[in-house]
Amino acid sequence: MELRPFGHPDRRVSPLGLGTWNLEIDDRAAAIAALRRGVDLGLAHVDTAEMYGSGRVEAIVGEALRGIRDRVFLVSKVLPSNATEAGTIKACERSLKHLSTDRLDCYLLHWPSTHPLEGTIRAFEKLQKDGKIRSYGVSNFDVEGLEQAVRLAGPGKIACNQVLYNLSERTVEHAVLPWCEARGIAVAAYSPLGATRFPSGKVLDDLAAARRATPRQIALAFLIRRKSVFAIPKSGSVAHTEENAGAASIELTDDEARRLDAAFPPGPWRGLATA
Ligand code: NAP
Repeated sequence: MELRPFGHPDRRVSPLGLGTWNLEIDDRAAAIAALRRGVDLGLAHVDTAEMYGSGRVEAIVGEALRGIRDRVFLVSKVLPSNATEAGTIKACERSLKHLSTDRLDCYLLHWPSTHPLEGTIRAFEKLQKDGKIRSYGVSNFDVEGLEQAVRLAGPGKIACNQVLYNLSERTVEHAVLPWCEARGIAVAAYSPLGATRFPSGKVLDDLAAARRATPRQIALAFLIRRKSVFAIPKSGSVAHTEENAGAASIELTDDEARRLDAAFPPGPWRGLATA
């Protein structure tokens, strides 16, 4: 799978990855098999968080990545309630333990915190200096929050903003996405399949049929056609993961993208949408 810059020209990551929210309620063996199959297929970008199953998902991910950790770009997130300077460091160390690894490739603040961002960023810097994280970023940040983060961290330091983005929820296209694109900040699209509500419709079905693809593959291809975007669909089965991986080889034409754009319009700006 063609890799693309993730917040830095030299940090190249697969545009399709593997989400893990709610993975702890899936059949454990099937979830592990799905993650390992995903990595084999090149979806070598795994997204998790200390929040998921209160650490249980990180433990499942750690088990799934046994022996293949070095092939994966591994992302986890600190809970805003833990995001003081000392709390962030402790949370990261806990995540590393759960994940059975010695470093994260990217560490994110899960959503804006009431703790001052200065402290979180100081902790990120220390963790990076100590080799415990390779890069850091944020999640669910609007432009105002991003401006503050970049001001505090300095240019080139915020690698990623992870946001809600799928065919039915395109709010980020109004401002967050172009702002990040202009600064080389990766945009990771969460709930790229709409979570529990996949955005169906005739145009999507017709385009998929014409391509001998599935609607979900077309929906994912629509998101990652922008080179700044990474999509992290969650799947609890090998079959779903294999289907999702197929999206990587679909390059939509301008006409196909226009038809999807008209069928799933971004709608008016109503502030940043979150899960
Ligand atoms: P999603 O990836 O849009 O959708 C996941 C759902 O789609 C699951 O029910 C999954 O079912 C199903 N699915 C996946 N592939 C399928 C296929 N090929 N055919 C049929 N169904 C399929 O939603 P998400 O989990 O909310 O988002 C993805 C990831 O983003 C999360 O797992 C998490 O890592 C991250 N996330 C981050 C935030 C944040 O605040 N930063 C918020 C939400 C999510 P099965 O499990 O049965 O395969």
